[in-house]
Amino acid sequence: MADLKALFAKAKGDQLARLPEDIRRRVKVAPNGCWIWQGKKAGSGQAMLYVGENKSVIAYRRVFLLLNGHLPAILRHTCDDKACVNPGHLMAGTIRDNNADASRRGLVKRKLTDREVREIMHLIDRGDRMVDIAPHYGVTPELVGQIKSRKRYAWMPWSPKKP
Ligand SMILES: [Zn+2]
Repeated sequence: MADLKALFAKAKGDQLARLPEDIRRRVKVAPNGCWIWQGKKAGSGQAMLYVGENKSVIAYRRVFLLLNGHLPAILRHTCDDKACVNPGHLMAGTIRDNNADASRRGLVKRKLTDREVREIMHLIDRGDRMVDIAPHYGVTPELVGQIKSRKRYAWMPWSPKKP
């Protein structure tokens, strides 16, 4: 078993060695096997790689392409870490899978009940932050923001106390 483990570790090491230096030096291998991106990250936490002036690509997609020679339209993280660029932690998926992943992480814009919307409005009035409110209702902070700015659920009577 130990031998297999060592072999596996070596194979993974070799994969890393196959990457160009500018990518390799931005990767830090975590104990759980994640290749944590040390380079730039997008606001969403996505690992980004600059490939020219003002031009960047999603780092894990670039790594996957370099090591596998092909690139699925959608890649899912099996480790739930958007900063991980280990191609072994990525698998091809569909938009539906992606939505399911988001839902599992409680990030989907699910439909709220009128009562929940009223509660959210109350919390906003109370001064709670969108990022704190959102997880309680399994929605994105963006959706809470849209409620606040009256872009969504505008038909529900409410005048926000704070602009
Ligand atoms: Zn990972």
